[in-house]
Amino acid sequence: MSKHTIKNYGIETRAIHAGSRPDSETGARNTPIYQTTSYVFDDADHAADLFNLQTFGFIYSRLTNPTVAVLEERIANLENGRAAVCCASGHSAQFLAFFSLMEPGDRFLASRNLYGGSITQFGTSFKRLGWHVDFVDATDLEAVKQAITPDHKAFFIEPLANPGGVVLDTQALADLAHENNMPLVVDNTLATPMLFQPFDHGADIITHSTTKFLAGHGTSMGGAIVEKGTFDWATAGKYPTLCEPDPAYHGMRFFETFGDFGFSMKTRCVGLRDFGPAMSPTNAFNTITGIETLHLRMERHVQNALKVANFLENHPKVSWVSYAGLPSSPYYELAQKYMPKGAGSVFTFGVKGGYEAGVKLVESVNLISHLANIGDTRSLIIHPASTTHRQLTEDQQIAAGAGPDVLRLSIGLETADDIIRDLDEALS
Ligand SMILES: *Cc1c(COP(=O)(O)O)cnc(C)c1O
Repeated sequence: MSKHTIKNYGIETRAIHAGSRPDSETGARNTPIYQTTSYVFDDADHAADLFNLQTFGFIYSRLTNPTVAVLEERIANLENGRAAVCCASGHSAQFLAFFSLMEPGDRFLASRNLYGGSITQFGTSFKRLGWHVDFVDATDLEAVKQAITPDHKAFFIEPLANPGGVVLDTQALADLAHENNMPLVVDNTLATPMLFQPFDHGADIITHSTTKFLAGHGTSMGGAIVEKGTFDWATAGKYPTLCEPDPAYHGMRFFETFGDFGFSMKTRCVGLRDFGPAMSPTNAFNTITGIETLHLRMERHVQNALKVANFLENHPKVSWVSYAGLPSSPYYELAQKYMPKGAGSVFTFGVKGGYEAGVKLVESVNLISHLANIGDTRSLIIHPASTTHRQLTEDQQIAAGAGPDVLRLSIGLETADDIIRDLDEALS
């Protein structure tokens, strides 16, 4: 890597090389799993400097670990961000991101087209911390203009939403967030940096559930928070957690001290340190290995998803298909603009015959697994109304895009004709 810096390489090269180098002690070419909790200090001064954040190094694996650090650098690189923090799951990434922004009593704005677990986390559990969410239909820019207020601390969206095949106008939403002096926080789990680059379209912070496509094989939980590094927290004037002296670090001001990675330092050194959802080194290793084929997998995920969506759209027992890669989708144009390489491989469709037909279908598939996950090499199916959304009333289910006839697919990497045959047999 002599003449070029890693930044100049294509995204496929960076998916394989960014953040990792042969082990200096042993020459090991792959990143070792540093299965250790702690690290020996050179001497007492070195230890003191580490604890004061005056030097960078390893103290304890709740804060930093060499295997996790390689993954953090790789994800930051693929997203063209300044820094990344990895943690135990996508939900802990969201929790830590908001902990670095919010005070009790604060409000934030969120798209209502989100992963169901995020709606519950924001609407129910965050409320108990005094963090209040206002949900808005982010497909409607006028509705966002009406709902957004200067006292919101962040605007959270999924540009490619789970489950519904909804694509948002990310740049327009970023402009509205910035007019109101707040960052746009983007959950890029479904698109991945291979299909969509949020920082090129106005986003300031990215969160990931690395559990899904990044790890990619249904083996390892994980999350990531990525910072672009250009948001001016001081001028925005409403982020005391980043700009005021922090009592958890002898009065350090994180933005003043660390500048374009101050948000990440706050997230790691306070949020991750004090709440503790660290990523395990083994999960980091599995995720590093997963990312090395991410570009190839996403290409095939998208090809297979389009074939399956086309098949379903023409099936007499299917009433509708919501996939932004189909020209019939109301989000087709936005998908072409923002995600020209494809609209992911998670989408929903409706079966004729409602709830009963939905249950029958998930019980009749063979190759496709009936379970609650996405982003696996295997094709997956779930009937939200009888599983993830069964606590809701039918009206609430329909509002959440999980009505009685809705099925969600995550199309895997098998032979497309085999996936189609499995669905065809189950439908009949
Ligand atoms: C799964 C998922 C999450 C939550 O991630 P976990 O790793 O399960 O905690 C958040 N957002 C989206 C879009 C997801 O699919």
